[in-house]
Amino acid sequence: MSTATYQTKLLIGGQWVDSVSGETIPVTNPYTGQTICNIAAAQAADVDLAVEAAARAAPGWAALPAHERGRLLLKLADKIEAETQNLARLEATDTGHPIRDCLSLDVPRTVLCFRYFGGMADKLEGSVIPVDAGFLNYVQREPIGVVGAIVPWNFPLMFTSWKMGPALAAGNTVVIKPSEITPLSTLRIGELIQEVGFPDGVVNIVTGYGHTAGTRIAEHPGIGKISFTGSTATGRRIVEMSAGNLKKVQLELGGKGPNIIFPDANMPAAVGGSAFAIFHNQGQACIAGSRIIIHEDIAEEFLERFVALAKSIRLGDPLDPETEMGPLTSKVHQERVLAFVEVTREQGGTILTGGKHPGGDDLANGYFVEPTIVRAKASDRVAREEVFGPFVTVLTFKTDEEALEIANGTDYGLGAGLWTQDLTRAHRFAKNIYAGMVWINCYKRVHPGSPFGGVGMSGYGREMGFEAMREYTQPKSVWVNV
Ligand code: NAD
Repeated sequence: MSTATYQTKLLIGGQWVDSVSGETIPVTNPYTGQTICNIAAAQAADVDLAVEAAARAAPGWAALPAHERGRLLLKLADKIEAETQNLARLEATDTGHPIRDCLSLDVPRTVLCFRYFGGMADKLEGSVIPVDAGFLNYVQREPIGVVGAIVPWNFPLMFTSWKMGPALAAGNTVVIKPSEITPLSTLRIGELIQEVGFPDGVVNIVTGYGHTAGTRIAEHPGIGKISFTGSTATGRRIVEMSAGNLKKVQLELGGKGPNIIFPDANMPAAVGGSAFAIFHNQGQACIAGSRIIIHEDIAEEFLERFVALAKSIRLGDPLDPETEMGPLTSKVHQERVLAFVEVTREQGGTILTGGKHPGGDDLANGYFVEPTIVRAKASDRVAREEVFGPFVTVLTFKTDEEALEIANGTDYGLGAGLWTQDLTRAHRFAKNIYAGMVWINCYKRVHPGSPFGGVGMSGYGREMGFEAMREYTQPKSVWVNV
């Protein structure tokens, strides 16, 4: 693939086609502000065609020996790995992620995910239940049929693999909608899927807006399950819209990750880990450590180091290997993040560093926001609402009880971090913190074997691991009179 040519059509039943309406959506490079290409804007009628294709392909795909499905996923992983440089460039151009991160995280993690679920395909076992005398009862897990996958713009490549990997391994066919803002890597995966020989219709890709294509996926009676990653507001709409045929719904939504730093923390590790927690991917991560909750005795020393580190982060062209932080992924989002700087001031908070576009000729057209650190009260909006940018709110505590109260003081419950040398305290907090994932002396670790997801307003259901295989299948209990 030349990096100058992009797939821009819909993948339906093995064919690349335009939207029935002929409408398109411009895709913007967030570093230059220029249009990269125009992609097809799928309408409800296109989604209907994609669901029909997926439904036609479903019985054959489910009937394939599981190791055959796994073999195709493993081949796909190899293809992606062989194309690491190209896909990294594509992702960096479309999203603004620094290419060094695309090369070290986005692409390798995508490969790992497809490989994990390729290997998992033939390991989904059923069970035999000890029931009444004279009867054999066994439970087998069956695919759901057609899965609708809706992906956000923050990690488009990786999240495509998180949803397609387990859905396909479990024997489902897929209609996937990437975000209209960042569709290019998902479309390239569609091309690779064809190259490795997946049967037509097993994977269908519909690019389009949420209010058209997304809505139709959510309400479509031919779709048995929705896997959605995105905002809490949209997640709630998906649940409402999916009620018609009582779809299974899995929601990965927003977060306001508490990152608690205790007085006995290893200071350099906590400073570096907290920077990764919030500034990686420009803070556009649902699991970002966006609230630093730090003991007041060490706050001054920590902040001195943390502010210095934030100021040293190199912002620049995402395609430059030296760049550590790129632009935000869209202009609308940049404006939204900067608006939170005003909210901080209005509510009496303090901006310790950042809070604006960095300026400079080479960055002028990019949707940049400086790494931003603010101090606020736990009741302030910036301590409760998801900003989803390189913006971290610092709160202090005196006692462990107070730290826990602040950590659990939002409606979200996705990821949480703890920095302490005290194992007892670490495990006590891990137990009591309201979250789906807890990192102790690290932050934002993910692996395809470890369940990923949240509680409360962060959603329900889990991606990754055996949990994901359960999400993408349904149990059938069979009774035999013996
Ligand atoms: P979003 O909800 O606006 O969009 C997500 C996807 O949903 C996009 O593909 C969009 O086109 C589609 N969509 C929008 N409106 C829709 C509708 N009415 N019906 C159906 N689909 C619709 O979210 P976003 O701005 O793209 O992503 C950022 C949000 O995603 C943040 O809140 C973030 O926390 C969350 N997120 C969560 C996780 C997680 O795993 N928990 C991961 C990444 C991002």
